[in-house]
Amino acid sequence: MERTLAIIKPDAVERRLAGPIIQRIEDAGFGIRAMRRVHLSKKDAEGFYAVHRARPFFASLTRFMSSGPAVVLVLEAPDAIKKWRTLMGATDPAKADAGTLRKEFAQSIERNATHGSDAPETAAYEIGYFFSGLELI
Ligand code: ATP
Ligand code: MG
Repeated sequence: MERTLAIIKPDAVERRLAGPIIQRIEDAGFGIRAMRRVHLSKKDAEGFYAVHRARPFFASLTRFMSSGPAVVLVLEAPDAIKKWRTLMGATDPAKADAGTLRKEFAQSIERNATHGSDAPETAAYEIGYFFSGLELI
């Protein structure tokens, strides 16, 4: 079993897509080990996306991620990191495969509905950023 950190981003929460996305998560067979609604501060978003701080889109991305409530979840499945990224689809919805969440729900490369950890080390960092061991059941 593997765990990954998923976020239903503010664009999707604002458009009342949290329900449909959670349904897709459950339909795909993930276990939801933890879940919370959070409104990140700009500083919280900067800490979360620290690896991207040199990128040209960093200021805009962190403004967007702190623009409204998001839903953070810990998902569990065999090969969860890859499985969740496959279900999300490509970062840019224009390049995402049919049937993926970003193809269906994303508005742009920035407002792309969901986040997923990209490796075991980032999953461990990102899960710990939002959840304590006590909250992970
Ligand atoms: P995430 O980390 O959110 O799961 P990802 O791993 O597919 O997405 P990253 O390269 O890690 O993509 O980029 C992090 C986030 O930054 C993207 O999900 C998107 O919201 C935003 N982003 C990435 N590239 C661009 C870009 N060229 N212009 C604007 N925003 C971007
Ligand atoms: Mg990423």
